[in-house]
Amino acid sequence: MTEVHAVTTRMQRESGILYHFRDHLPLTDRTPMLSLHEGGTPLVHAPRLAAWVGVPELYLKYEGLNPTGSFKDRGMVLAVARAVEDGARAVLCASTGNTAASAAAYAAHAGIRSIVLLPAGRVAAGKLAQAVIYGADVVTVDGSFDHALALALNASRKFDLALVNSVNPARIEGQTTAAYEICDALGDAPPVLALPVGNGGNITAYWLGFRRALEHGRATRLPRILGVQAEGAAPFVHGAPVEHPDTVATAIRIGRPATWEPAIRAAQDSGGAFRAVSDEAILEAYRAIAAHEGIFCEPASAASVAGLRAAVRAGAIDAAQQCVCILTGSGLKDPDTAVANVEIGAPIDMNDVEYIGRLI
Ligand SMILES: *Cc1c(COP(=O)(O)O)cnc(C)c1O
Repeated sequence: MTEVHAVTTRMQRESGILYHFRDHLPLTDRTPMLSLHEGGTPLVHAPRLAAWVGVPELYLKYEGLNPTGSFKDRGMVLAVARAVEDGARAVLCASTGNTAASAAAYAAHAGIRSIVLLPAGRVAAGKLAQAVIYGADVVTVDGSFDHALALALNASRKFDLALVNSVNPARIEGQTTAAYEICDALGDAPPVLALPVGNGGNITAYWLGFRRALEHGRATRLPRILGVQAEGAAPFVHGAPVEHPDTVATAIRIGRPATWEPAIRAAQDSGGAFRAVSDEAILEAYRAIAAHEGIFCEPASAASVAGLRAAVRAGAIDAAQQCVCILTGSGLKDPDTAVANVEIGAPIDMNDVEYIGRLI
């Protein structure tokens, strides 16, 4: 083996969340140490956005920099590794897009098949492109995400397939690692953490992760967790399922969350709350995050910032505190929402240098 090869194989072996958090995750001697270099995402200091939100100190955990562009990779790497360990030949999931992209990528990396069930017509272009190119069997379902999940649960039982939705405990375990990373980056847990909530898996994982960080001495306190939903898909805010969920933030367009009690406990026990924001507020935050900080997240991710801003304005949160917002996915997932309502001018003459001068 050449020296370069030895270094690259070590870099590969010593990467990803299974390696970095091996002492905190449910691994056995037989768990394959899969990695696409997920985790280790940056916590970006965001002073201009902080002023826009109305807080003194704001950090953005940019989960869009995971290998398939969303936090789903943290849970998926473990869920697929455990499925392989158990001898599964295929994994199955229902998805608004990001779970499908992640499941398809890790299944491809592990050399097994993936079957993904998507609500017909409501999946962002980038996510569909990923599922297709990673080689998943893409099945569209005539119904919402909630219907697709019910079908996936049913099929997984009937055909003994490894279901990798967030009802799979490995998903939640893998996702706890983001809370450890935030504590390690800040030297403690932040007083306030805001994140978008759809199925309720991620808020459950963060709360579990922060409590473990406290137990292990990685943190001396716990954050108040603000779970943010879109007004048209806010079952946790209403305390009841929503029959026809609708929002521009397709990743959180969920009316019947699969994880209910633990998600509610995360908000309640942490002294936090759930809050709903309008699609206009989500899109305003989406543009502000990009324009003020140079970070392009997907609309669902921007709900965290929109919700924090609304909570500060309503006096629901002590505004004099350090805050962290989770940006759950990359803006490149959903280019159509970014360019909707934008007019790009007609082409200019190739010699029209004065045109540029008039812009400044
Ligand atoms: C999955 C997802 C969410 C919602 O997470 P849940 O665990 O379903 O609550 C939010 N944002 C993005 C980008 C997602 O992919």
